[in-house]
Amino acid sequence: MGVDGTDKEINAAEYGRPPSGDDYLVIGHESLGVVEEVGSAVNDLRPGDYVVATVRRPGGSIYDRIGMQDMTTDDEYYERGINLRHGFLAEYYVEEPEYLVHVGPGLKHVGVLIEPASVVEKGIAQAYEIQRRLRVWQPRRAAVLGAGPVGILATMALRLRGLQVCAFGRTKPPYLNSDLLREVGACYHSFQETTLPEASAMHGPYDIIFEATGSSPIVFEAMDVLGKNGVLVLSSVTGGGRTVEVPADRINLGFVLGNKVVVGTVNAHRDHFEMAAKDFAQAEIRWPGWLSKLLTHPVEGLDNYREMIRLLTDTKGALKVFVKVAEQ
Ligand code: BGC
Ligand code: ZN
Repeated sequence: MGVDGTDKEINAAEYGRPPSGDDYLVIGHESLGVVEEVGSAVNDLRPGDYVVATVRRPGGSIYDRIGMQDMTTDDEYYERGINLRHGFLAEYYVEEPEYLVHVGPGLKHVGVLIEPASVVEKGIAQAYEIQRRLRVWQPRRAAVLGAGPVGILATMALRLRGLQVCAFGRTKPPYLNSDLLREVGACYHSFQETTLPEASAMHGPYDIIFEATGSSPIVFEAMDVLGKNGVLVLSSVTGGGRTVEVPADRINLGFVLGNKVVVGTVNAHRDHFEMAAKDFAQAEIRWPGWLSKLLTHPVEGLDNYREMIRLLTDTKGALKVFVKVAEQ
């Protein structure tokens, strides 16, 4: 089980809710499990198979009814380990096969990264889907804002699609995250040394920008430096109440005269989990061992939950904290 900022917020009671009738929530939404037992009507999964569970469960909107609950218009949504449904940070869980994605044994050592990668894959898939409006779109330059697991995985996915990628983070290089970004052929800039407009003047204009910093003011700078016909993908879940002053006329004019698009994205469809697994297989061939380096902080067993929360809280150097619930 991987854990992330969402789990930290849930633990601090800032986000998420338990299922109705329960006064606790089992967390955990970044799973990798082994099938132990299947019901008699299940034919596509067998004991011993590795699986990653999707996170959101259907509500009532038309999108939910066609299996696209990641696009729900309901105000209340059901997410295992996050909101109104218990999660997977446990020895066992029970799940319907339609919510389980089969992962080949060759990816079991990095399978726990598939859920965060699915969020990235959805964002990129949305961008490409939208850009079909351009008939001949050939993106060349991308910017990824944020150098945490999501930003690093977005950089990987965009590099696999042949783009030049500039990644941005708070910390001055060199450090693990900037090294990992360089290893997949991206350049890295610290916001402390280079502003987005400066980087854009050097490496831009950007055809696609993927925002994953967790800080909303950067969104308006990204809108400003986005290239003509470009697409900006927003993926940060920002629960606060921040306000900023922005050059509204200039941003608006750039969008209108440049036919630009901004799209928000959350969660993922099982197709995106499958895309993540395919990208991981490619990444393992192109950059052997690279993905495993993201898994920096193992926690041994469920009993060490205090250590897990501690690692999530003092994030110095912890790229991905994960719990080894059981050995397989
Ligand atoms: C999870 C997503 C979820 C989102 C909002 C993220 O941490 O990875 O699956 O939709 O939080 O709750
Ligand atoms: Zn998450």
